[in-house]
Amino acid sequence: MSTATVYLKPKKDESIRRFHPWVFSGAIKQIDGQPANGDTVRVCANKGAVLGYGHYSPNATIAVRMVSFDEEIPDENFWIEKIRKAYQMREALGMTSDTKSNTYRLVHAEGDRLPGLIIDHFDGHLVIQTHSLGMHLLRDHWVSALKDIYGSNLKSIYDKSSSTLKKNGGYEMENEYLFGDEKSGNISLENGHQFLIDWEGGQKTGFFIDQRENRELLGKVSKGKKILNSFCYTGGFSIYALGNGAELVHSLDSSQKALDLVEENVKLNGFDSSKHACIHADAVQFIKDAETDYDIIILDPPAFAKHMNARHKAVQGYKRINARAIEKIKPGGLIFTFSCSQAVDKQLFTHTIIAAAISVGREVKILHQLHQPADHPISAFHPEGEYLKGLVIQVN
Ligand code: SAH
Repeated sequence: MSTATVYLKPKKDESIRRFHPWVFSGAIKQIDGQPANGDTVRVCANKGAVLGYGHYSPNATIAVRMVSFDEEIPDENFWIEKIRKAYQMREALGMTSDTKSNTYRLVHAEGDRLPGLIIDHFDGHLVIQTHSLGMHLLRDHWVSALKDIYGSNLKSIYDKSSSTLKKNGGYEMENEYLFGDEKSGNISLENGHQFLIDWEGGQKTGFFIDQRENRELLGKVSKGKKILNSFCYTGGFSIYALGNGAELVHSLDSSQKALDLVEENVKLNGFDSSKHACIHADAVQFIKDAETDYDIIILDPPAFAKHMNARHKAVQGYKRINARAIEKIKPGGLIFTFSCSQAVDKQLFTHTIIAAAISVGREVKILHQLHQPADHPISAFHPEGEYLKGLVIQVN
């Protein structure tokens, strides 16, 4: 089968020549051939110069995600080499041999020059989430690369792409094990803390690895403090707080299923359950009515803005919840506040928090500016990859 060719409109090659990996549908002048969803297409500039190859998604705003900027079409070795490079980067960072942590992100999509592919590692179990059919169709290559890299340390590979593929183009598939069949409920270590990871039933790949370093920072200031961990999911921040001598931790989420896992994680780590309670509630409402004098509040909501056109509403949402927390917290207290919306950048997020502080009329200092860790790298050519930002603010 011959490879279809996508020709770009004049000047639309400029960002691709700077290695930006996205071709928007509006940038396409003409397509030679009839590529199907997931096909690899050749991408050419207006006058025909070959820019590289990408995965075609006919129904998405990002019509082509570039996978190579070479004249050669990617072969099996190309893919295996990409996974190996991603592993070598984590190895160089000491993550693959860390005796206190065996959770890390092995592949972070555009950040590893593998647009549309996420692979998380939990103590020898790998969870794959593909966001484009093109990446999904390559799964035999991922499996052979992963078997080769991990050898006898590989316990299972679970492909959890059904919801992401359905959302990005309506492709139907069942989640399934591509290797091994060990069911979830396995225990992983993060900075010496134990976590039950439910990759089959949990959100995303089962655990939010991206908060690892920020949880560690919370641990350092938790001793003797009363802490509200809102949007807690499986209690990542709560476990670090309890492990570092917090006086009282409230874990709040709107998902009972997530809270059940928090309870299990508290037990698993052997913590005194009288210092911890789960709260099943809406975070905004709860903080507004909160009666406890918290020393620390964590705000880690899901992405309020999934698209640029939802940005204004998202900013209002961040402002509202942060204003309520700033209003309620004890004088001298800390707020760990985050946004994982790609459409809200660092500057806009900081301005939103400042606006929230002004609206409440309390004095606020920015103590830390937080972000995603190194196993969630940002390609210099794709600044949109910087999605997680956070601030630690002190309120007087
Ligand atoms: N901080 C977590 C990750 C948070 S993910 C960690 O370290 O693992 C966002 C969480 O917010 C999800 O668990 C989701 O169930 C919860 N959530 C979404 N909307 C909510 C709301 N209005 N009130 C409380 N929790 C909410």
